[in-house]
Amino acid sequence: MTVAGRFERIALIGFGLIGGSIARAARLQGVAGEIVTTARSEKTRARVAELGIVDRVLASNAEAVKDADLVILCIPVGACGPVAEEIAPHLKPGAIISDVGSVKGAIVRDMAPHLPANVHFVPAHPVAGTENSGPDSGFAELFINRWCILTPPDGVDADAIDRLRAFWAALGAKVEIMTPDHHDRVLAITSHLPHLIAYTIVGTADELAQVTESEVIKFSAGGFRDFTRIAASDPTMWRDIFLSNKDAVLDMLGTFTEDLSKLTRAIRRGDGEALFDHFTRTRAIRRGIVDIGQDSAAADFGRPLPQIKKS
Ligand code: NAP
Repeated sequence: MTVAGRFERIALIGFGLIGGSIARAARLQGVAGEIVTTARSEKTRARVAELGIVDRVLASNAEAVKDADLVILCIPVGACGPVAEEIAPHLKPGAIISDVGSVKGAIVRDMAPHLPANVHFVPAHPVAGTENSGPDSGFAELFINRWCILTPPDGVDADAIDRLRAFWAALGAKVEIMTPDHHDRVLAITSHLPHLIAYTIVGTADELAQVTESEVIKFSAGGFRDFTRIAASDPTMWRDIFLSNKDAVLDMLGTFTEDLSKLTRAIRRGDGEALFDHFTRTRAIRRGIVDIGQDSAAADFGRPLPQIKKS
């Protein structure tokens, strides 16, 4: 019996947090016959070979995609166009070509023109991640109970979409389909803007003259440290995200700035009611996230409590 979502040969272009997690999860779930991977640097390729999760690790993207039924680009968004151009002549007819990029409009714009008509292009974004990167950072459980958004262009074969949906479901993800534009607007507010705010606030704290750096670090449990986790995310990946999703991010940033001004005014005027109402509304949003299982209900994100030592 064939396992739902199984592909005979999968080529992963890039083996970092996401590529490495896909490889580990696909192995565990038995949805990959052979897994071939590439990485840009010799250092990463050597480490991937040492890890022994995939069958073959190659330097050539063109070589890796030969005879692959599923090709997934797991590299920064800005690198996807040139790599699509490089692999296009070597793709197997009927193969599904996908990616994991955090922006979808730019991926469709940069990749689609290079791909031949005899392959199925189904862009994807697993909305799952951590602040870590590199070949050792991945883990098989990353996608469990997380969303994976597919953004197939009009006219893509329905069977190819179903096969990719089944693959992501086998890795534990819940799958949703959206247009690239809608995806980019949703992610601008749920992911890209929060990262921009974290990058800003951590930078601001670093530049403060009145509070010393050691004090910022020492008292970070007051809220700051939760921003530092996000602000530790990969600089290349996030540079590419902001450059590729410029319009939606600027749009959301405009709305955010207006809302920030409203809260600033409430503080200046001593308008406690406005502040209280706003914070009550935001608390309900957090509870909604916990209720649908997108985060733990445990206090402080489930960080372990320190133990009192008995004397
Ligand atoms: P990562 O851990 O830094 O791994 C990136 C991989 O891409 C590495 O194998 C790297 O090779 C390779 N690479 C980097 N630049 C390249 C280039 N110019 N050409 C070809 N290969 C290149 O990154 P990641 O977190 O897995 O992110 C990969 C993709 O997943 C990004 O598009 C990102 O938007 C998306 N994504 C990330 C997250 C997240 O939380 N991290 C979540 C969802 C989606 P070397 O190791 O040899 O440099």
